[in-house]
Amino acid sequence: MFDLENLNPADINLYYPEWEDLKEDCKYNNCTHINTNEKECAVIKALNKGLISKNRYDRYLEIYKSYLEKWRRKYD
Ligand SMILES: [Zn+2]
Repeated sequence: MFDLENLNPADINLYYPEWEDLKEDCKYNNCTHINTNEKECAVIKALNKGLISKNRYDRYLEIYKSYLEKWRRKYD
C-alpha cells in the first residue's frame, strides 16, 4: 500500500519501472505525465499508441489525485 502521508508525487513513478525509459523523452524533468500534451510527454504519447497499459495509467492518476488531496488538506 502507498503511504500517502509521506509520498512525493515523483515517487509514484518508482512503481512504474516500465516508464523509466520513456521519461527521458519527456520535455520536462519533473513531468507528471498528467495534463500535458503528447508532444511534451513521452508517457502520454506511448499511452495513445497503446504501448503502455491504460489500466496502469488510470491507476496512476488515481494515486496521484488522492495524494494531492491529502497534501492540500494538510497544508490548507
Ligand atoms: Zn511525461
